[in-house]
Amino acid sequence: MAKIRGDSLVPETLLKAALERRAIKFDTNPTDLPGKPDIAIRDRRLAVFVHGCFWHACAAHYRTPRTRRRFWAKKARDNVRRDARVRRRLNRLGWATTVVWEHSVRLSPEGCAERVERRSKKLPRAKTQ
Ligand SMILES: [Zn+2]
Repeated sequence: MAKIRGDSLVPETLLKAALERRAIKFDTNPTDLPGKPDIAIRDRRLAVFVHGCFWHACAAHYRTPRTRRRFWAKKARDNVRRDARVRRRLNRLGWATTVVWEHSVRLSPEGCAERVERRSKKLPRAKTQ
């Protein structure tokens, strides 16, 4: 399936590859964390979410589709609320969270990876679970 979708162009994949080039260790979509973050840097307890501009209603790029407007508007609202809920749950478990937008990854995977690395290094080192 990954091959069919052209997985190497998916923002998550681009960011993961850039983090790997920086030798950052992370898990992907860990089921033991709320919201199964795209990337979890366990030794710093940083959860990274790569948000698609459409699904997560990016302020710069989200437009409600022309058809079924109410359906899509509600869907976007629900997703944004769920994102906030997941972040709060992670925070309560002692995890920091950060969001990387699809448009940023497309512009510069390396720049995003650098930002994630910098953020993670500001966090105290955690015991790996
Ligand atoms: Zn965007």
